[in-house]
Amino acid sequence: MPLLNDILDYNAAFIDQKEYQNLITTKTPNAKAVLLTCMDTRLTELSTRALGFKNGDVKVVKNAGATISHPYGSTMRSLLVAIYALGAEEIIIMGHKDCGMGNLDVNSVIDTMKSRGITDNTLNTIEHSGIDIQQFLRGFDDVTQNVQTNIQKIYNHPLFDQSVPIHGLVIDPHNGELEVIQNGYEFTK
Ligand SMILES: [Zn+2]
Repeated sequence: MPLLNDILDYNAAFIDQKEYQNLITTKTPNAKAVLLTCMDTRLTELSTRALGFKNGDVKVVKNAGATISHPYGSTMRSLLVAIYALGAEEIIIMGHKDCGMGNLDVNSVIDTMKSRGITDNTLNTIEHSGIDIQQFLRGFDDVTQNVQTNIQKIYNHPLFDQSVPIHGLVIDPHNGELEVIQNGYEFTK
């Protein structure tokens, strides 16, 4: 059965059996923190449970590689809104070992796009409009460095309140073990 059908069947039973009652919380994070991490499937639950967060404890922002690719893009906006409007008082940037965005082969991604019908003409049009597709799709070489780079992007953002601690972590997606890249309390103003 197609996935959406499965989802809708499950959802009807979920509502009917009032399973949502176990998940009721507020929009304010109990731990007063926002976590930026990767969309990796191994981190779906591990990224919060290995940190001791339960449902409702933390705002979670996820994308490919736990990366802020643009200072005025949606990831940065989410972090700022979490701080200024949704009750977060600390930021945690958590990359992970064995990330799919580490050493991503951009040319291979572009080749796959072409094999699925994206034409050179389209790619050229995008390039001519000022978008560097290689840069747009690019991952990172080193996860520790990527976490540090993202911390700096936030810290130096003109709209960021530098009294907010930014912690940098790398998690092992196999067992949840954390490595501290930056203790944010040591760098707040
Ligand atoms: Zn990843």
